Amino acid sequence: MLSQIIQDALNEQIKNELFSAYLYLSMSAYCAEASLPGFAQWMRLQSGEENTHAMKIFSYILERTGHVELQALEKPQSKFASPMALFKQVLEHEKKVTGMINNLYELAVKEKDYPTEIMLEWFITEQLEEEKTAGEIIQLLTMVGENGPALLMLDRQLAARGAK
Ligand code: MG
Repeated sequence: MLSQIIQDALNEQIKNELFSAYLYLSMSAYCAEASLPGFAQWMRLQSGEENTHAMKIFSYILERTGHVELQALEKPQSKFASPMALFKQVLEHEKKVTGMINNLYELAVKEKDYPTEIMLEWFITEQLEEEKTAGEIIQLLTMVGENGPALLMLDRQLAARGAK
């Protein structure tokens, strides 16, 4: 059985992952409205990935015969200054999520909940990847700068992203 404190923390993390999905979906809409279909597609796939993160924890709670209690989601931001501002926000958001996962892991260690520690290891590795990817896109956007044609080329490149 899951302890109450771990169960509550896992339910909270389902919400955090779903909020990420919601935020990235909102960002996808912004990109589509800004005539950047590649960025829009990329963010939409990213949103779908966050949804699978939430479902991993959802399934895990049920597997441990715990109780899933979905929380209310906040309204995500819907306006962004530029693709660069948007990706900087993605990176900041992912760093925040990394902190949440680390706190959850610490809690699992404190509670001696070894299965939860093992489950969270996947998320720790995933967060490394998320921060790295956001950083790489910021790097590309820095190189592009104010160059419109280069931004369109980057848009095409991002459109090529398949579901991970
Ligand atoms: Mg996630």
